[in-house]
Parts: sequence; structure tokens; C-alpha cells
Amino acid sequence: MTTASRRARPARFFVETLGCPKNVVDSEKVVASLEADGLSPAASPGEADLVVVNTCAFVEAARVESVETVLALAAARRPGARLVVTGCLAERYGSELAEALPEADAVVGFEGEGSLSEVLVDPPRRKPVGVRDLLELPRPAPTAPWAYLKVAEGCDRACAFCAIPSFRGPQRSRPAEAVVSEARALVEGGAAELVLVAQDLASYGRDAGEPGALAPLLHRLDALRPDGLVRIRLLYLYPSEVRGPLLASMLDLPSVVPYLDLSLQHAAPALLRRMRRWGSGDRFLELVEGIRAEVPGAAFRSSFIVGFPGETEDHHEELLGFLRAAELDWAGFFAFSPEDGTPAADLDGAVPADVVGERLRELGEVQDPVTASLRDALVGAEVEVLVDRVDDDGAPVGRTHREAPEIDGVVRLARGPARPGDLVRARVVGAVGPDLVAEPAPVAGARREGAA
Ligand code: SF4
Repeated sequence: MTTASRRARPARFFVETLGCPKNVVDSEKVVASLEADGLSPAASPGEADLVVVNTCAFVEAARVESVETVLALAAARRPGARLVVTGCLAERYGSELAEALPEADAVVGFEGEGSLSEVLVDPPRRKPVGVRDLLELPRPAPTAPWAYLKVAEGCDRACAFCAIPSFRGPQRSRPAEAVVSEARALVEGGAAELVLVAQDLASYGRDAGEPGALAPLLHRLDALRPDGLVRIRLLYLYPSEVRGPLLASMLDLPSVVPYLDLSLQHAAPALLRRMRRWGSGDRFLELVEGIRAEVPGAAFRSSFIVGFPGETEDHHEELLGFLRAAELDWAGFFAFSPEDGTPAADLDGAVPADVVGERLRELGEVQDPVTASLRDALVGAEVEVLVDRVDDDGAPVGRTHREAPEIDGVVRLARGPARPGDLVRARVVGAVGPDLVAEPAPVAGARREGAA
């Protein structure tokens, strides 16, 4: 019998989540599983006797934040409380992490055999263990009028900079039936907006011999509108897959919002090939312009890697030119981080940190005014705001199709009454940074968003 198993069974737990929306879903499933086993949530780590840290290992900064969080929670926990580290850092560095973090009682990956609660509640001391995949565990009712819905785990691509496939494994798509039944439960629990996530969302179904399965899945999810579903939003789309029936479903189905989160990474074809990715600035521009021609109000987001090995001034100029031409609503820029075990970590042509800093600054100087002018251009437009919350001052705060939760700006309604989950027609009266201010109950003659 291990030291840990001799301790009293925990009664109250606290889960701390770092990283991306996919981790948020995993944490919700951890919470549901612990609650199903009779544990109750604690309001703070100091009140819990089981503290779970769901970590992120995406880049160096995320790993540092994850380790710092583990150490801070180890210090904050009450005497005798168990600390379990899980998530991507645990999966990627299981044994090393268990060795390096004696503060943790266990380091637990989400793959492999074993019941989640058994392992979390009664962890083998300082030994990396795995539990069964979280994908099909139940999750609690949503606490907001929107919820992430994870449709697949892992990735079958081989982008040179990315370590995800090495620790999250190949893609495993969930059966459509399981996704739809989780979606139905979320909608019945109050989620008016479902945000679909996966490492490579557009490839949903390919691993199961059903390429293109995302479009029929969207049709099935759209059928949940009579139950209260208002919006479906898709995150992380590999650009070459945004075509044919998938694109048609995105633009035609009433609940699927025209919000295109395209995973572009760069615009210079030579650098994209070095990244082992598809595309070019010209192809991306064609895609963006084609969609805008069909749906003028479509919103676009993307993220880009800056300072990938071999990135020249010319490549950087190509990216700047693309951003000026594409006028994306939202864009994020990330300094390249060499990840252990990835092909990019061994590439020559490292870009000095000061050059990366300068390029990041220049990219911001091009993109920030684009984002600001697109937000300003919405003043006077009539929009549909899904209310997420009501602030302490009584102002309802929500989002249109242009803003993804937790990622983009918000829309603050100047006055109520509106409750979370309400869909409010409003007229935009101002833009403040990434956020909009709007008045409910549109005045006659207000311009419809996207109208010429
Ligand atoms: S598609 Fe995304 S998750 Fe998959 S290897 Fe490329 S960057 Fe990584």
C-alpha cells in the first residue's frame, strides 16, 4: 500500500486550469468525474484536500507558468492535501516531471488505463500514471450561456514546430452520436452557443475513415436549434480544409456563425513549406476574399509564428503585405519557441531575439489599426448580441458572431434589462479598443451588419 493510499479519502477538491479551451473541457470532465464519486468542489485551493492542476505545455512560457502554478498551489494547500499534476505538461514530461516536482503527489496523463477518480483521489505517490481518455466522460452543466465542445483529441499532421502530436497522440475523433448527445445536454443545460474545438477541427472524422465528417456533424448540431441552440462557432481550422461542403455548411447553416478562425501561421510560401504546412499568402487571400464576397459580415481570426528558423526580411515583408491586404478582424503573433523533439528545433537559420522583437512590433503596428478600424466601422450597425453576463453596474455584456468567448473583444450594452442567454438586437454606438458599446432596441433605419 502506498503512502498516499493510507491517507484519508479527500472530500473536497479544487481544479486549476491553464492553457487552451481544450484544457477547459478536460477540466470540466475532471470536475464531473470527481463529483460523481462524491467529492465536492472547494472555493479555494486552501480549503481543498485534493488540488488538481491541469497544465499547458504549448511553449516555454506556458510550461514556466504551469510549473509556477504547481509550486504556488503546493505552498497554498492545507497540510496533508494531495496535489495532482495533469494535462499536457504531465503527458509530455511524465517521469521527468514526477522526478523534478516532489511537491506533487502524482503526475497523471489523460491517456491509458485506469479510472480517473481512482487515480486522482488515490494517486500512486510521485509516479507518472495514465488514466483513460477523458473524451467520453460526462461534464457538468455549463456555467455560462456558451460552452466548448471537444470533438476530437490528438493530431495527424506533422507541422515542424509543433510537439502536440508527440504527447497528445494521433487524432481520435469522437463518434458523432457522442458529440451530439453531449451537445444536447449542454444546450438543455443553458448553452446557447457551442464552440467546437479540436487540435485540427476540420479533419474531424478522417481518422475514422470518414473525411469530411464535420459538415454532416454541423447539420446534426444545427438541428438542436429548437432546443435553444443559437450559435455554433468553430475554432482552429486548417486553411486547406475550409472548402466544399464544410465551407457551405459554415456559411449556410443558420446556427453556424461566419467566424473563420484560420490557422495560417505565416504567409511566405517558402517558410510555410519549412514549417511543413500548406498554403501561401495568395491562397489565403483568395480564401478570405471569396468568403467575404459571399458573406460580407464574415469575421476572420488567425495567429502567426514570428522568427521561425530561416525567416528572412523578405518573408517578414510578405507577412506584413498579407496582413495589410487581408484585413483580418483579429490576429495574434507569437515568437517562435523551439520545442524538444520537433523538426524545427534542429533547423538552422535561428532568428536573433532582438530581430524577433522588432518584427513583432512591426506586425502589431500593421494589425492594430486594421482591427481598430474594423471595430470603428461597426458604429451605426445593427448587431445581435448574445448576453454572457451582467456586470456589477447592471450592464449586460455579450458578443456578436465576431467575438469568440475568452479570445476576442466583447459588446457592452448601454442598458438592460437583459439576462445571460438572451439574444438582444442592438445598435453599435461606440468602439473602445477591442470592445463595442451598443444600445438595445434598434432605432429605425439602423444599418444591418454586413449590409453594403
Ligand atoms: S495542425 Fe496544429 S496541432 Fe496539428 S501538428 Fe499542426 S500545429 Fe500541431
